[in-house]
Amino acid sequence: MAKNVAGYRAEGYRRFQLKVGGNPDTDIERIHEVANKLEPGDKLIADANTGWLQHEAARVVRGVRDVDVYIEQPCETYEECLSIRRRTNLPFILDEVIDGVDILMRALSDQAMDVINIKISKFGGLTRAKLARDLCVQLGIAMTIEDSWGSDITTAAIAHLAHSTPTEYLFTSTDFNSYVTVSTAEGAPQRDNGRMAASTMPGMGIQPLMNVLGDPVVDVS
Ligand SMILES: [Mg+2]
Repeated sequence: MAKNVAGYRAEGYRRFQLKVGGNPDTDIERIHEVANKLEPGDKLIADANTGWLQHEAARVVRGVRDVDVYIEQPCETYEECLSIRRRTNLPFILDEVIDGVDILMRALSDQAMDVINIKISKFGGLTRAKLARDLCVQLGIAMTIEDSWGSDITTAAIAHLAHSTPTEYLFTSTDFNSYVTVSTAEGAPQRDNGRMAASTMPGMGIQPLMNVLGDPVVDVS
């Protein structure tokens, strides 16, 4: 992981998300190793994807308390995450547990995070994700804007939602179509030196490749 950072930086990336959430001792070591490779302007996020039990997360945040790192979704439940949040001074991101406006409002009122990860499909599409985004902007919470996974169509949607977010609240965004080998649309944003830009054509500005997508799974007409 530490070695990969230099390679990704050469591609233009400046936010590095470290996948943790396993053995807490190994994770503490990993976070330190990667943090040692950071350069000014880089940001490091340790994302446990709900993987630690509460006592494990408590040990990790204590073990890396002097490291410049964000802690993302340490435990499975909102209550466990809130407990960890209240005993660490590290910047804190919630992801998996924020899947709708109700829990978002509760989390905002509890001051349960500094950054929220908005995954478009988790909220139920762009319209609902936009509502959550607007609430976060209003209340001063920065956002990672992305999705659970995807290719060109998903990346186009991400790029549009990210573009329309005030820059200071856009913590980071994800170019999922750089991660996959199958293209699902023409005109999707492409990574260029760590950045991507949405198409200025109408709608999402893409042409879905129907021959790749295949027959519809469901017809709602
Ligand atoms: Mg995450």
